[in-house]
Amino acid sequence: MLRDAEILAELGRGGSLRKLRDVRVYGAFIEVGGEKYVNLSSNDYLGLSDSELQKEFFEKVDFDEFLMSNPSSRLMTGNSLDYMILEGEIAQFHGFETALVVGSGFLLNSGVLPAITTNKDLIVCDKFMHASLIDGVRLSSARLERFRHNDIEHLECILQKADAERIIVATESVFSMDGDIAPLREIAALQKKYDFEFYLDEAHAVGVFGRNGCGMSAAVEGLRVDYLVGTMGKAFCSQGGYVACSYQIKELLINKMRTLIYSTALPPISLKWSLFVLEKMGDLQARREHLFELISLMGGESQIIPYIIGFNEDTLAKAKWLQERGFWATAIRQPTVPAGTSRLRFSLSATHSTEQIKELCRLIG
Ligand code: PMP
Repeated sequence: MLRDAEILAELGRGGSLRKLRDVRVYGAFIEVGGEKYVNLSSNDYLGLSDSELQKEFFEKVDFDEFLMSNPSSRLMTGNSLDYMILEGEIAQFHGFETALVVGSGFLLNSGVLPAITTNKDLIVCDKFMHASLIDGVRLSSARLERFRHNDIEHLECILQKADAERIIVATESVFSMDGDIAPLREIAALQKKYDFEFYLDEAHAVGVFGRNGCGMSAAVEGLRVDYLVGTMGKAFCSQGGYVACSYQIKELLINKMRTLIYSTALPPISLKWSLFVLEKMGDLQARREHLFELISLMGGESQIIPYIIGFNEDTLAKAKWLQERGFWATAIRQPTVPAGTSRLRFSLSATHSTEQIKELCRLIG
Protein backbone atom coordinates (compact mmCIF):
# COMPACT_ATOMS: atom_id res chain seq x y z
CA MET A 1 0.00 0.00 0.00
CA LEU A 2 1.32 3.42 -0.96
CA ARG A 3 0.46 4.94 2.43
CA ASP A 4 2.53 2.29 4.24
CA ALA A 5 5.51 2.85 1.94
CA GLU A 6 5.26 6.60 2.60
CA ILE A 7 5.23 6.06 6.35
CA LEU A 8 8.35 3.90 6.11
CA ALA A 9 10.10 6.39 3.81
CA GLU A 10 9.30 9.22 6.23
CA LEU A 11 10.71 7.22 9.15
CA GLY A 12 13.83 6.57 7.07
CA ARG A 13 14.30 10.30 6.28
CA GLY A 14 14.00 11.17 10.00
CA GLY A 15 16.53 8.52 11.06
CA SER A 16 13.77 6.66 12.96
CA LEU A 17 13.43 3.50 10.88
CA ARG A 18 13.89 0.46 13.09
CA LYS A 19 15.27 -2.92 12.06
CA LEU A 20 15.44 -6.31 13.74
CA ARG A 21 18.90 -7.82 13.99
CA ASP A 22 20.25 -11.28 14.62
CA VAL A 23 21.93 -11.04 18.03
CA ARG A 24 23.58 -13.76 20.09
CA VAL A 25 24.25 -13.19 23.78
CA TYR A 26 27.38 -14.39 25.55
CA GLY A 27 27.23 -12.89 29.03
CA ALA A 28 28.66 -9.37 28.87
CA PHE A 29 29.14 -9.72 25.11
CA ILE A 30 26.88 -9.94 22.11
CA GLU A 31 27.64 -11.00 18.58
CA VAL A 32 26.01 -9.02 15.78
CA GLY A 33 26.89 -9.62 12.12
CA GLY A 34 29.88 -11.75 13.11
CA GLU A 35 31.38 -9.02 15.36
CA LYS A 36 31.60 -9.17 19.15
CA TYR A 37 30.70 -6.16 21.31
CA VAL A 38 30.36 -5.35 25.01
CA ASN A 39 26.58 -5.28 25.40
CA LEU A 40 25.32 -2.04 26.94
CA SER A 41 21.72 -2.63 25.88
CA SER A 42 20.58 -5.56 27.97
CA ASN A 43 18.32 -5.59 31.01
CA ASP A 44 20.19 -8.57 32.45
CA TYR A 45 21.27 -6.34 35.33
CA LEU A 46 22.62 -9.13 37.53
CA GLY A 47 24.51 -10.85 34.71
CA LEU A 48 22.57 -14.10 35.00
CA SER A 49 23.11 -14.92 31.33
CA ASP A 50 26.79 -15.18 32.17
CA SER A 51 26.47 -17.48 35.11
CA GLU A 52 26.79 -21.08 36.12
CA LEU A 53 23.21 -20.84 37.35
CA GLN A 54 21.80 -22.05 34.06
CA LYS A 55 23.75 -25.32 34.26
CA GLU A 56 22.78 -25.76 37.91
CA PHE A 57 19.13 -25.21 36.97
CA PHE A 58 19.07 -27.72 34.13
CA GLU A 59 20.63 -30.43 36.31
CA LYS A 60 17.48 -30.43 38.45
CA VAL A 61 14.89 -30.30 35.68
CA ASP A 62 12.48 -33.24 35.24
CA PHE A 63 12.31 -33.92 31.50
CA ASP A 64 9.29 -36.24 31.80
CA GLU A 65 7.12 -33.17 32.19
CA PHE A 66 6.48 -31.15 29.01
CA LEU A 67 8.40 -27.96 29.72
CA MET A 68 8.28 -25.88 26.58
CA SER A 69 4.66 -24.73 26.52
CA ASN A 70 1.43 -24.74 28.44
CA PRO A 71 -0.85 -24.40 25.44
CA SER A 72 -3.95 -23.00 27.09
CA SER A 73 -5.02 -19.96 29.10
CA ARG A 74 -4.47 -20.21 32.86
CA LEU A 75 -8.23 -20.22 33.25
CA MET A 76 -8.57 -23.26 31.00
CA THR A 77 -5.88 -25.86 31.72
CA GLY A 78 -2.76 -23.67 31.73
CA ASN A 79 -2.52 -23.17 35.48
CA SER A 80 -0.13 -25.27 37.56
CA LEU A 81 1.53 -25.65 40.91
CA ASP A 82 4.55 -23.79 39.43
CA TYR A 83 2.42 -20.67 39.06
CA MET A 84 1.03 -20.97 42.56
CA ILE A 85 4.42 -21.49 44.20
CA LEU A 86 5.95 -18.65 42.18
CA GLU A 87 3.12 -16.27 43.08
CA GLY A 88 3.42 -17.21 46.75
CA GLU A 89 7.17 -16.53 46.71
CA ILE A 90 6.74 -13.21 44.89
CA ALA A 91 4.16 -12.12 47.47
CA GLN A 92 6.56 -13.00 50.27
CA PHE A 93 9.49 -11.30 48.53
CA HIS A 94 7.57 -8.01 48.40
CA GLY A 95 5.61 -8.42 51.65
CA PHE A 96 2.16 -8.55 50.01
CA GLU A 97 -0.87 -10.79 50.56
CA THR A 98 -0.56 -12.34 47.12
CA ALA A 99 0.63 -11.87 43.53
CA LEU A 100 -0.51 -12.61 40.00
CA VAL A 101 1.83 -13.63 37.17
CA VAL A 102 1.03 -13.08 33.47
CA GLY A 103 2.93 -13.54 30.21
CA SER A 104 5.00 -10.35 30.35
CA GLY A 105 5.32 -6.97 32.04
CA PHE A 106 3.66 -5.42 29.00
CA LEU A 107 0.62 -7.70 29.33
CA LEU A 108 0.53 -6.90 33.02
CA ASN A 109 0.59 -3.12 32.69
CA SER A 110 -1.82 -3.08 29.78
CA GLY A 111 -4.20 -5.47 31.57
CA VAL A 112 -4.54 -4.37 35.19
CA LEU A 113 -5.98 -0.86 34.83
CA PRO A 114 -8.76 -1.75 32.36
CA ALA A 115 -9.75 -4.61 34.69
CA ILE A 116 -10.06 -2.61 37.88
CA THR A 117 -11.32 0.81 36.71
CA THR A 118 -14.60 2.18 35.37
CA ASN A 119 -15.63 5.51 33.86
CA LYS A 120 -16.12 6.84 37.41
CA ASP A 121 -12.39 6.56 38.09
CA LEU A 122 -9.29 8.66 37.55
CA ILE A 123 -5.75 7.52 36.74
CA VAL A 124 -3.00 10.03 37.47
CA CYS A 125 0.34 9.05 36.01
CA ASP A 126 3.83 10.40 35.45
CA LYS A 127 4.44 11.81 31.95
CA PHE A 128 7.34 9.39 31.38
CA MET A 129 5.40 6.27 32.32
CA HIS A 130 6.15 3.20 30.20
CA ALA A 131 4.17 2.60 26.98
CA SER A 132 2.58 -0.56 28.43
CA LEU A 133 0.86 1.41 31.18
CA ILE A 134 -0.24 4.12 28.76
CA ASP A 135 -1.84 1.39 26.64
CA GLY A 136 -3.55 0.10 29.79
CA VAL A 137 -4.98 3.57 30.38
CA ARG A 138 -6.16 3.74 26.76
CA LEU A 139 -7.98 0.43 27.17
CA SER A 140 -9.68 1.53 30.37
CA SER A 141 -12.67 3.83 30.53
CA ALA A 142 -11.20 5.85 33.40
CA ARG A 143 -10.14 9.47 32.95
CA LEU A 144 -6.43 10.20 32.65
CA GLU A 145 -4.38 13.07 34.02
CA ARG A 146 -0.61 13.17 33.66
CA PHE A 147 1.78 15.01 35.94
CA ARG A 148 5.09 16.44 34.78
CA HIS A 149 7.89 13.93 35.20
CA ASN A 150 8.72 13.46 38.91
CA ASP A 151 7.02 16.80 39.69
CA ILE A 152 5.40 16.25 43.06
CA GLU A 153 3.83 19.73 43.18
CA HIS A 154 2.07 19.11 39.90
CA LEU A 155 0.85 15.76 41.20
CA GLU A 156 -0.48 17.45 44.34
CA CYS A 157 -2.26 20.09 42.25
CA ILE A 158 -4.09 17.32 40.37
CA LEU A 159 -4.93 15.47 43.59
CA GLN A 160 -6.36 18.65 45.18
CA LYS A 161 -8.94 18.89 42.41
CA ALA A 162 -9.48 15.16 41.87
CA ASP A 163 -12.99 13.87 42.25
CA ALA A 164 -13.55 10.21 41.36
CA GLU A 165 -14.72 6.97 42.88
CA ARG A 166 -11.30 5.36 42.61
CA ILE A 167 -8.14 7.43 42.14
CA ILE A 168 -4.98 5.58 41.14
CA VAL A 169 -1.61 7.32 41.04
CA ALA A 170 0.90 5.44 38.89
CA THR A 171 4.64 5.86 38.50
CA GLU A 172 7.89 3.91 38.09
CA SER A 173 10.49 3.62 40.84
CA VAL A 174 13.42 3.58 38.36
CA PHE A 175 12.47 5.16 35.03
CA SER A 176 13.18 3.03 32.01
CA MET A 177 14.61 5.67 29.68
CA ASP A 178 16.16 8.21 32.07
CA GLY A 179 17.25 5.91 34.91
CA ASP A 180 16.11 8.49 37.45
CA ILE A 181 14.11 7.71 40.55
CA ALA A 182 10.57 8.64 41.60
CA PRO A 183 10.11 10.85 44.69
CA LEU A 184 8.67 7.99 46.73
CA ARG A 185 9.09 9.69 50.13
CA GLU A 186 7.10 12.68 48.91
CA ILE A 187 4.42 10.37 47.54
CA ALA A 188 4.20 8.73 50.98
CA ALA A 189 3.61 12.22 52.43
CA LEU A 190 0.82 12.85 49.89
CA GLN A 191 -0.84 9.60 50.96
CA LYS A 192 -1.39 11.18 54.39
CA LYS A 193 -3.27 14.10 52.82
CA TYR A 194 -5.19 12.57 49.92
CA ASP A 195 -7.12 9.41 49.35
CA PHE A 196 -5.66 7.46 46.42
CA GLU A 197 -4.34 4.03 45.54
CA PHE A 198 -0.72 3.73 44.46
CA TYR A 199 0.47 1.71 41.45
CA LEU A 200 4.24 1.36 41.28
CA ASP A 201 6.12 -0.20 38.39
CA GLU A 202 9.38 -1.53 39.84
CA ALA A 203 10.42 -3.30 36.62
CA HIS A 204 13.92 -1.78 36.65
CA ALA A 205 14.37 -1.76 40.43
CA VAL A 206 13.58 -5.38 41.24
CA GLY A 207 16.72 -7.46 41.56
CA VAL A 208 18.91 -4.36 41.84
CA PHE A 209 17.64 -2.11 44.65
CA GLY A 210 16.34 -2.92 48.11
CA ARG A 211 16.97 -5.78 50.50
CA ASN A 212 17.75 -8.90 48.46
CA GLY A 213 16.72 -6.91 45.39
CA CYS A 214 13.08 -6.53 46.44
CA GLY A 215 12.82 -3.07 44.85
CA MET A 216 12.81 0.49 46.12
CA SER A 217 9.46 0.93 47.77
CA ALA A 218 9.88 -1.43 50.74
CA ALA A 219 12.51 0.83 52.33
CA VAL A 220 10.42 4.01 52.05
CA GLU A 221 8.91 4.67 55.44
CA GLY A 222 5.16 5.05 55.49
CA LEU A 223 4.72 4.34 51.76
CA ARG A 224 1.71 2.18 50.93
CA VAL A 225 1.86 0.44 47.55
CA ASP A 226 -1.39 -1.16 46.42
CA TYR A 227 -0.14 -2.57 43.12
CA LEU A 228 3.56 -3.41 42.85
CA VAL A 229 4.54 -4.37 39.33
CA GLY A 230 7.63 -6.33 38.39
CA THR A 231 8.84 -8.13 35.31
CA MET A 232 10.81 -11.35 34.95
CA GLY A 233 12.26 -9.99 31.72
CA LYS A 234 14.98 -7.85 33.29
CA ALA A 235 17.06 -8.70 36.38
CA PHE A 236 15.40 -12.14 36.54
CA CYS A 237 16.65 -12.87 33.03
CA SER A 238 13.45 -14.83 32.43
CA GLN A 239 9.97 -14.17 31.03
CA GLY A 240 6.73 -12.96 32.63
CA GLY A 241 5.27 -10.02 34.52
CA TYR A 242 3.58 -9.79 37.89
CA VAL A 243 1.61 -7.60 40.22
CA ALA A 244 1.81 -8.01 43.99
CA CYS A 245 -1.53 -6.97 45.47
CA SER A 246 -4.36 -7.90 47.86
CA TYR A 247 -6.39 -11.14 47.63
CA GLN A 248 -9.45 -9.19 46.54
CA ILE A 249 -7.66 -7.42 43.70
CA LYS A 250 -6.17 -10.71 42.53
CA GLU A 251 -9.63 -12.25 42.41
CA LEU A 252 -10.95 -9.29 40.46
CA LEU A 253 -8.06 -9.59 38.00
CA ILE A 254 -8.61 -13.32 37.51
CA ASN A 255 -12.17 -12.49 36.51
CA LYS A 256 -11.66 -9.30 34.53
CA MET A 257 -8.12 -9.05 33.20
CA ARG A 258 -8.25 -9.74 29.48
CA THR A 259 -4.49 -10.14 29.05
CA LEU A 260 -4.66 -12.97 31.58
CA ILE A 261 -7.92 -14.59 30.50
CA TYR A 262 -7.38 -14.58 26.74
CA SER A 263 -3.66 -15.34 26.56
CA THR A 264 -1.67 -18.56 26.74
CA ALA A 265 -0.03 -19.44 30.05
CA LEU A 266 3.74 -19.21 30.38
CA PRO A 267 5.81 -22.32 29.60
CA PRO A 268 6.69 -24.38 32.71
CA ILE A 269 10.40 -23.89 31.96
CA SER A 270 10.06 -20.11 32.37
CA LEU A 271 8.08 -20.42 35.59
CA LYS A 272 10.60 -22.86 37.04
CA TRP A 273 13.56 -20.70 36.04
CA SER A 274 11.89 -17.57 37.52
CA LEU A 275 11.33 -19.42 40.78
CA PHE A 276 14.91 -20.71 40.77
CA VAL A 277 16.24 -17.16 40.30
CA LEU A 278 13.89 -15.73 42.93
CA GLU A 279 15.14 -18.24 45.47
CA LYS A 280 18.73 -17.16 44.66
CA MET A 281 18.03 -13.42 44.90
CA GLY A 282 19.40 -13.16 48.43
CA ASP A 283 22.70 -14.79 47.37
CA LEU A 284 23.34 -12.33 44.57
CA GLN A 285 24.45 -9.47 46.81
CA ALA A 286 28.05 -9.51 45.53
CA ARG A 287 26.71 -8.92 42.00
CA ARG A 288 24.57 -6.02 43.22
CA GLU A 289 27.56 -4.48 44.98
CA HIS A 290 29.71 -4.75 41.86
CA LEU A 291 26.89 -3.19 39.84
CA PHE A 292 26.72 -0.27 42.30
CA GLU A 293 30.45 0.28 41.87
CA LEU A 294 29.94 0.50 38.10
CA ILE A 295 27.03 2.90 38.58
CA SER A 296 29.16 5.18 40.73
CA LEU A 297 32.01 5.05 38.19
CA MET A 298 29.56 6.48 35.66
CA GLY A 299 27.98 8.90 38.14
CA GLY A 300 24.51 7.41 37.56
CA GLU A 301 21.44 7.34 39.79
CA SER A 302 20.75 3.76 38.74
CA GLN A 303 22.06 1.14 36.33
CA ILE A 304 20.29 2.94 33.45
CA ILE A 305 22.38 5.86 32.27
CA PRO A 306 21.06 8.08 29.50
CA TYR A 307 23.57 9.79 27.23
CA ILE A 308 21.40 12.38 25.58
CA ILE A 309 22.54 13.55 22.16
CA GLY A 310 19.46 15.23 20.66
CA PHE A 311 19.09 14.55 16.95
CA ASN A 312 18.42 11.05 15.59
CA GLU A 313 21.22 11.15 13.01
CA ASP A 314 23.82 12.26 15.58
CA THR A 315 22.69 9.55 17.96
CA LEU A 316 22.98 6.89 15.27
CA ALA A 317 26.43 8.18 14.34
CA LYS A 318 27.58 8.04 17.97
CA ALA A 319 26.22 4.50 18.33
CA LYS A 320 28.21 3.47 15.25
CA TRP A 321 31.32 5.22 16.58
CA LEU A 322 31.05 3.25 19.82
CA GLN A 323 30.49 0.02 17.88
CA GLU A 324 33.73 0.60 16.04
CA ARG A 325 35.36 0.73 19.50
CA GLY A 326 33.75 -2.50 20.68
CA PHE A 327 30.67 -1.27 22.59
CA TRP A 328 27.05 -1.83 21.62
CA ALA A 329 24.54 0.77 22.85
CA THR A 330 21.29 0.93 20.91
CA ALA A 331 20.14 4.40 19.82
CA ILE A 332 16.82 5.32 21.47
CA ARG A 333 14.72 7.69 19.39
CA GLN A 334 11.28 9.18 19.11
CA PRO A 335 8.59 8.01 19.90
CA THR A 336 10.23 6.00 22.72
CA VAL A 337 11.63 9.31 24.03
CA PRO A 338 10.45 12.88 23.30
CA ALA A 339 11.66 14.54 20.05
CA GLY A 340 15.04 16.23 20.44
CA THR A 341 16.14 13.91 23.27
CA SER A 342 17.44 10.98 21.22
CA ARG A 343 20.04 9.16 23.20
CA LEU A 344 22.21 6.22 23.81
CA ARG A 345 20.96 4.38 26.85
CA PHE A 346 23.67 2.55 28.72
CA SER A 347 22.36 -0.35 30.79
CA LEU A 348 24.99 -1.52 33.21
CA SER A 349 25.15 -5.11 34.36
CA ALA A 350 27.00 -7.00 37.07
CA THR A 351 28.59 -8.94 34.24
CA HIS A 352 30.51 -5.87 33.03
CA SER A 353 34.05 -5.53 34.30
CA THR A 354 35.35 -2.37 35.93
CA GLU A 355 37.85 -2.08 33.04
CA GLN A 356 35.08 -2.16 30.43
CA ILE A 357 33.14 0.60 32.14
CA LYS A 358 36.29 2.70 32.71
CA GLU A 359 37.02 2.39 29.00
CA LEU A 360 33.45 3.48 28.19
CA CYS A 361 33.83 6.52 30.47
CA ARG A 362 37.08 7.40 28.70
CA LEU A 363 35.44 7.12 25.28
CA ILE A 364 32.42 9.29 26.06
CA GLY A 365 34.50 11.78 28.05
N1 PMP B 1 7.49 -1.62 32.69
C1 PMP B 1 8.62 -0.99 32.41
C2 PMP B 1 8.99 0.22 33.21
C3 PMP B 1 9.46 -1.45 31.38
O1 PMP B 1 10.58 -0.79 31.07
C4 PMP B 1 9.08 -2.59 30.65
C5 PMP B 1 9.96 -3.20 29.55
N2 PMP B 1 10.62 -2.35 28.76
C6 PMP B 1 7.88 -3.21 30.97
C7 PMP B 1 7.10 -2.72 32.00
C8 PMP B 1 7.41 -4.41 30.19
O2 PMP B 1 7.98 -5.57 30.69
P1 PMP B 1 8.21 -6.86 29.74
O3 PMP B 1 9.46 -6.60 29.01
O4 PMP B 1 8.26 -7.99 30.71
O5 PMP B 1 7.02 -6.94 28.83
